Amino acid sequence: MIGLIHDITDRKSNEKEKENILVELIAAKERAEESDRLKSAFLCNISHEIRTPMNGILGFSELLKEPHLSGKEQARYIELIEQSGERMLNLINDLLDISRIEAGETILQITETPVNRLLHDLYAFFKPEVDKKGLHLHCTTGLPDSECIIETDTSKLNQILMNLVQNALKFTSSGGIDYGYMLKDSFLEFYVIDSGIGIPVDMKIKIFERFRQVNNSLTRHHEGSGLGLSISKAYIDMLGGTIRVESEEGLGSAFYFTLPYNHLFSSKKEPLSPATEKLTASLPGLTILIAEDDNVSRLLLTIYLKNEHITVLSAVNGHEAVEMVMHHPEIDCVLMDIKMPVMNGFEATRQIKQLRPDLPVIAQTAFTSKEEEKKAKTAGCDSVIFKPINRNELSEVMKRLLKR
Ligand code: ADP
Repeated sequence: MIGLIHDITDRKSNEKEKENILVELIAAKERAEESDRLKSAFLCNISHEIRTPMNGILGFSELLKEPHLSGKEQARYIELIEQSGERMLNLINDLLDISRIEAGETILQITETPVNRLLHDLYAFFKPEVDKKGLHLHCTTGLPDSECIIETDTSKLNQILMNLVQNALKFTSSGGIDYGYMLKDSFLEFYVIDSGIGIPVDMKIKIFERFRQVNNSLTRHHEGSGLGLSISKAYIDMLGGTIRVESEEGLGSAFYFTLPYNHLFSSKKEPLSPATEKLTASLPGLTILIAEDDNVSRLLLTIYLKNEHITVLSAVNGHEAVEMVMHHPEIDCVLMDIKMPVMNGFEATRQIKQLRPDLPVIAQTAFTSKEEEKKAKTAGCDSVIFKPINRNELSEVMKRLLKR
């Protein structure tokens, strides 16, 4: 009898390892396929989200050309063009936010934040839309005004709440929305509760991922890019909190998120909200140079300023702008586009500042990154405003720089 014994421990563990690798490979392949599928759905969605408002803008602009429109019809068409423009701007802002988050380039601006005021402003903002849908809107503040000031990023908190209330409004057709916050240990717990369509159990985590929507089929009723919640979640993480959702399909959803309660015991009064009233005062007797290569943007600025009784000069590139400043000592201020042919706005500003260091230069740009703002300031620009240009903001900046 000859007996042979083989120790196959190694072989078996090799086999086990191979099996594990295979399982991992299959999972990776599935993840890649899923991500590919999401990317395609995203592109399709974005294309749809851009084309829909474009359809409104181009379609109603065309209709506006018709000669016998009543004043009411004209006003309605213009309102629809505005709404479509805003929808597109929101999408672009969301895309920018998400790409900044992914690149780790989000900058937090931590300041004193009067939470109650923020919530009340939100109420004023949403109330007309909520009324239009026949819903109710309740806001509950969990602390007295004197104890509600925390240190956080005001605009990010505002963006998170706006997004949650906007979603609640979008997905609710009867009942209404309750939102507010309460103090829980050392955190403020904010909530936005609606009586809308609710969220299926298997989607409760997924909706916080980029581009995820419960229904992204062709029969989808609601507009949206699927980015709002992932942006909100990323901001909440950065601000030291967490977000979760409780929901029952058909009954409604309740979104909760926390932020550290680092109450400021300052004796300072709540800062006043930025002036929202329309600026009516004019800036008479000024000569403004607009450096802008895009005809439409130049015309828009000219019309904005002409209404303010200002003499407008224009240049279509940076080189021309420098020449104009050289030959027109009466120029009081320059509105400088950044991306221009022949010479860009940075270089033109540098040269203008050498000629007339005290001449205010306002950069007006469609690039909205902090980096771009920094570059403009380094080049010598006194202020930066972003396109689409808000007429009141432009007027305010000019008044500040020209001390009128
Ligand atoms: P968007 O609203 O642009 O699609 P979000 O990231 O804000 O993107 O939301 C992702 C998805 O989560 C929505 O498409 C929707 O399916 C679901 N969702 C978000 N909020 C609610 C809500 N209050 N009620 C029902 N579903 C919601």
